Amino acid sequence: MSMQPAKLIACHECDLLQREIHLPTGGEAHCSRCGALLYRSSPRSLDNSLAFALAAAILFVIANIYPLLGIEMKGNPNATHLFGAVRYLWDHEMHLIAALTCITAVLVPALEIMMMIYLLLPLRFRVIPAGIPLILRILQGIKPWGMVEVFMLGILVSIVKLSDTSTIIPGVALWSFGGLTLMLAAVASSFNPRDVWNRIEQRVENGEYNE
Ligand SMILES: [Zn+2]
Repeated sequence: MSMQPAKLIACHECDLLQREIHLPTGGEAHCSRCGALLYRSSPRSLDNSLAFALAAAILFVIANIYPLLGIEMKGNPNATHLFGAVRYLWDHEMHLIAALTCITAVLVPALEIMMMIYLLLPLRFRVIPAGIPLILRILQGIKPWGMVEVFMLGILVSIVKLSDTSTIIPGVALWSFGGLTLMLAAVASSFNPRDVWNRIEQRVENGEYNE
């Protein structure tokens, strides 16, 4: 295996082709022409991503089960769930907004979290999950459609507006949504598809997988 020629990597800033070198833990490789960061050695980043993804999964479930808000208008208490809000929009002829909310705040984040766990949990236990290239491609493709933070902002704006005319009680799901927003951002910043291939390569070389 050590006789393998070094892989080539193109600088994303200036396109210069360079040979990859093995980095010490925590090391960084920079482009020799323009100095842009090419890659870094972060062996714990996959474990971090997995931890964030698992936390996101728990928060996601709570955010979808419990009420987002309690609204008391003219003495009538009312609890709003995320799903209830989507249905309200749908029932009031706001189909596009209902669909967009459902896709960006529920479906895409759910898919993202599930795929992350599907990918990273087996790797943690030295099993290579099937269909890694496809999963990575889908994760890349749906990324722009996950907009939990936009939804979160929308809720905060409506709370401010509604608080003039009614009493708003923040629900468990609202706090969970806030946490979910942070966890998804943490997954996005810690996860690097490169690390997935590196870990598999490393373990195959060490003979830890016998596929
Ligand atoms: Zn460069």
